[in-house]
Amino acid sequence: MPGFEVFGKEERAEVNDVLESGVLMRYGFEGMRNGHWKAKEFEEAFAKKMKVSHCQLVSSGTSALTVALAAAGVGAGDEVIMPTFTFVASFESIMAIGAVPVLVDIDDTLTLDPAAVEKAITAKTKCVMPVHMCGSMADLKALKHICDAHDLLLLEDACQAIGGSFDGKPLGSYGDLGCFSFDFVKTITCGEGGAVITNNEVFKTHADQYQDHGHDHIGKDRGAETHPHLGYNFRISELNAAVGVAQLRKLDDILALQKKHYRLLRDALASIEGVNFRRVPESGEENYSFLNIFLPSEEKAKKAHKALSEAGIDGCFYWYTNNWHYINGWEHLKEAKSLGALSEPIRTKLAQLSTRQFPKSDHWMGRNLSFLVKVGWSHEEVKRRAHIMKETLQTLL
Ligand SMILES: *Cc1c(COP(=O)(O)O)cnc(C)c1O
Repeated sequence: MPGFEVFGKEERAEVNDVLESGVLMRYGFEGMRNGHWKAKEFEEAFAKKMKVSHCQLVSSGTSALTVALAAAGVGAGDEVIMPTFTFVASFESIMAIGAVPVLVDIDDTLTLDPAAVEKAITAKTKCVMPVHMCGSMADLKALKHICDAHDLLLLEDACQAIGGSFDGKPLGSYGDLGCFSFDFVKTITCGEGGAVITNNEVFKTHADQYQDHGHDHIGKDRGAETHPHLGYNFRISELNAAVGVAQLRKLDDILALQKKHYRLLRDALASIEGVNFRRVPESGEENYSFLNIFLPSEEKAKKAHKALSEAGIDGCFYWYTNNWHYINGWEHLKEAKSLGALSEPIRTKLAQLSTRQFPKSDHWMGRNLSFLVKVGWSHEEVKRRAHIMKETLQTLL
């Protein structure tokens, strides 16, 4: 998935445009910037690519989630439903604005289980945040149905699934708001960066203001701007945006290569008894950044993870025991290890979490192996990997 594999002269040229003028900020300094507006250029190109009317570029994927929630009016005490398998940014962004994370089970899509979402809805629920983990999506149709019925926001975390689609729509554009990350290991990178996309005019204006201290961005004198709302600083720099401008032009080629490599790996494993693939919801297309399989048991998955690593297969993840992505590794969340005091509603929810079991999530995560698909591999390399993966799994199963 990583855009860092294709960093080259195109990125350097875009960054040099910025270095030559020395205007490292995305706003103002019109006379000095030689006509370069990298953040703006990225936003226009990305909105077009994602088939939405608006894109707001920000400093990271985590800030994109925070800005999206804030822009949609989610705040203190509101509950946001999120999955047990995700990245820590999900609960970080929710708690950053004083809202309460409500964790629910995933299913064989490795994303939110719609039935679990429905069960978790209370009078305080404001938003459902599916996370399209490892290149494939949640059942957006079912989730949208639930959100419409309960008047809830649907906010897609598409940080790991840029370029995938559902029902003919780019992932991130199906819900009310969609978020992306351009950190260094994502499909395309800005070094650090993120984006919020939406077709909602009000959310667009709020996101634009919130990520820059509440500035209204009207007129050309920054000092004279008014502040319709409170905000924060989640701005991206022109240097980071410039990297993204070049990377975005490479997205289609990256996706095509990923798909080709994914296909070769998947075809090699397809006939092995005991290997099952992650379910992709009907009418969904992955972005092919990861190949995800299920093995018959937790014990087999652990053994396979070890055997594959010993056979030289890097980029094979067993998320079940990995600190980053599954609730098993989030002691700091479950024990509410906050540097400062947390609000009462958040403390109460986290206290419940410390004893709560998620057997359904454990069932799927315990048996899952996730293979990173790289774009830098040669055809021969992919074929060799496919062969080793097949032999190793066949021996074990
Ligand atoms: C990477 C990632 C984020 C956060 O992005 P950063 O740019 O690293 O802050 C959020 N959600 C998911 C699913 C991610 O993979």
